[in-house]
Amino acid sequence: MRSAEERSIDWVASIPFFLIHAIAVAGLFYFPLSWEAAAIVAGFYVVRMFGVTAGYHRLFGHRSFEVGRGMQLFFAVLAMTSVQKGVLWWASHHRVHHKRSDLEGDIHSAKLDGFWWSHVGWILSKRYERTELDKIKDFASYPELRWLDRHPLVPPVTLAVLTYALGGLDALYWGMGVGTVLVWHGTFTINSFTHLFGRRRYATTDDSRNSLLFALITLGEGWHNNHHHYQRSCPQGFYWWEIDVTYYVLRAMQAVGLVRKIHVVPEHVRAKGRVEAPVAAPTAAEATAAARRSVRAASMATSAE
Ligand SMILES: [Zn+2]
Ligand SMILES: [Zn+2]
Repeated sequence: MRSAEERSIDWVASIPFFLIHAIAVAGLFYFPLSWEAAAIVAGFYVVRMFGVTAGYHRLFGHRSFEVGRGMQLFFAVLAMTSVQKGVLWWASHHRVHHKRSDLEGDIHSAKLDGFWWSHVGWILSKRYERTELDKIKDFASYPELRWLDRHPLVPPVTLAVLTYALGGLDALYWGMGVGTVLVWHGTFTINSFTHLFGRRRYATTDDSRNSLLFALITLGEGWHNNHHHYQRSCPQGFYWWEIDVTYYVLRAMQAVGLVRKIHVVPEHVRAKGRVEAPVAAPTAAEATAAARRSVRAASMATSAE
């Protein structure tokens, strides 16, 4: 549990965050909603959410698949168009979450510090503004990634300029305004909701959950209990029915040679560490019937003697 001082928000640095929310809401009164607008929002959301989950999370956070250096840069730039800082910043903090998940020292534990802190508070706080390169030495050795980490606004601003040039103010508002707010909160649900709501398959030391709803919202990240059980697996859906769009796209990229190797969960790991099936307490009627049976058995045993 954090002290009030530890939770203090950096209000000045957070102005752009609140401003984009305000623009997204206020703009609804100026920019008419249309099918075209909905398509822009959906397109910007899906492509950039894929960048978040494949790039920030599965590649830089966990090295769950392997790519060449050019594709590595592609995933870094694509992820960063969602305006969630540098890949080294994102992945280094995420690794601390896994190391200490729902224990003292976890950066964003919904269990210890509540829903809002895990959803957004930790991002706006003064405490986690710096990238800790020693926690991500494997990727910090690439100068292009360190450069991007120092200039986190280059990918999103470039995308914004291109969007404005090609689609005008309407496309800029729907794609980079509304679309950015949605992709932010879609991402944040994994740190908040999937540690609070859903089912647990594995007895992990944290409170992580599996949820189809959040797997659909985040293109596969909702199988968060699976993910905490075995982080190295690129597919986070461990069975065919656990929908994981990010994994399907990465498999397609592997088929055409853009992704080299994909790590999956070994069968013995998938089978172990399950939550015991809960034993339901007997109902009153079942308890009475069982008591009657035992009395009858006892009386039969006595009469047989
Ligand atoms: Zn993770
Ligand atoms: Zn987690």
